[in-house]
Amino acid sequence: MLEKVMIANRGEIALRILRACQELGIKTVAAHSTVDQNLKHVRLSDQRLCIGPAPSAKSYLNIPALISAAEALDVQAIHPGYGFLSENADFAEAVESCGFIFIGPKPETIRLMGDKVSAIQCMKTSGIPTIPGSDGPLGTDSSEIHRIARSIGYPVMIKAAGGGGGRGMRVVHSDAALVHAIDLTRAEAQAAFGNPNVYLERYLSAPRHIEVQVLADGQGNAIHLGERDCSMQRRHQKIIEEAPAPGISDRQRRQLGERCVQACQKIGYRGAGTFEFLYENGEFHFIEMNTRIQVEHPITEAITGVDLVKEMIRISSGEPLRIRQRDITFRGHAIECRINAETPTNFMPSPGLVSQWIPPGGPGIRVDSHLYSGYRVPPYYDSLVAKIIAFGETRDEAISRMQAALQETVVEGIATNIPLHLELLHDEAVKQGGLDIHFLTKKLENRMTAK
Ligand code: ADP
Repeated sequence: MLEKVMIANRGEIALRILRACQELGIKTVAAHSTVDQNLKHVRLSDQRLCIGPAPSAKSYLNIPALISAAEALDVQAIHPGYGFLSENADFAEAVESCGFIFIGPKPETIRLMGDKVSAIQCMKTSGIPTIPGSDGPLGTDSSEIHRIARSIGYPVMIKAAGGGGGRGMRVVHSDAALVHAIDLTRAEAQAAFGNPNVYLERYLSAPRHIEVQVLADGQGNAIHLGERDCSMQRRHQKIIEEAPAPGISDRQRRQLGERCVQACQKIGYRGAGTFEFLYENGEFHFIEMNTRIQVEHPITEAITGVDLVKEMIRISSGEPLRIRQRDITFRGHAIECRINAETPTNFMPSPGLVSQWIPPGGPGIRVDSHLYSGYRVPPYYDSLVAKIIAFGETRDEAISRMQAALQETVVEGIATNIPLHLELLHDEAVKQGGLDIHFLTKKLENRMTAK
């Protein structure tokens, strides 16, 4: 087992990693920015090192600073969490070439999956169903582009090959708007992701976002841990997730899971990973693979009893996967609400001093959060401040517990999206379940026009 791990992240996920390390008897080093010295995991870690100023480009995205910190404090491995450098193949490569363990897949796997075009091509050859699309990056010949779009059928979605975080996507409804929209997306993709490649995909009108969690050891063993429904989204960003996905049969789960496992074995996948699909008319279509731990991992932990973060650390130390597929059983239902520091009406970030934080509790409630009374949410990073996870024997029980948990949560000093979550958890359509990815956007639009 590893002896010392550096946590190259912040916020709730840094704390989650610290807790997993503590359970495994591994010492921790918190690599943090100047404004993050008072973060909970920084205070609780065995050692800490400031790696740069607040802007992430100078700290959490600063590869030389992170490698130097790892060298200075003599760690064995680096956990990248999610976001930041977690899916940066150059970082993983730098980590490994300097003699450290990257807690995640091999750099070449990250590179393959980080380019959505190569990821889709790889999945196709592994027998995973994809969305009808351009089969590769678009060239510059506009008549050829029009031909491809017409053969896919409008509306089409232009997507950046290097895109992520819900950015680098644009929907086009007609020939007339196509070329201009492609030029715009290319320019944005170059600026945001350093990769101007774009491709086309059929735009699905009412799909659900369903994803499959996997664990693999890179030594030929791989398992799936069922699916999560992440259709409750705003601007392609998830806000509520649940597991299992309502209405998905055991047979569908097994079939899809087995295909993902086979794909993992084919590419020699190592670590925790997620296959993301859009589900429409009873069919799954692959959209991308995330090669890291995800924000919504706790709901899978709740229904399987598997600690995904501990397993990914064990795998990185070279241990073969201890869990077999037959060991995985699903029990109950879990829901996660992402609590963001933002104004409920206009979704603007709401950083500042948290004068009071009283997290919820009770049976089936888990709270993953770095908040404490007196903590100041800095304006520089993602607005996620807490995740509330409710588990119940049934979906109804999970919903009731979540309603109560949201009701009793106190966050003072900053605004949060708790009122929106409460509204959603009391919505009859949400209680029914199985909604598509456009539900929330439509609901918010209706609210605007009703005013
Ligand atoms: P990112 O890497 O930015 O998260 P994804 O490819 O995972 O991008 O897509 C994010 C979300 O965008 C999906 O969950 C879905 O809501 C929407 N989306 C992506 N592709 C399509 C598509 N072809 N049709 C309709 N919606 C899509």
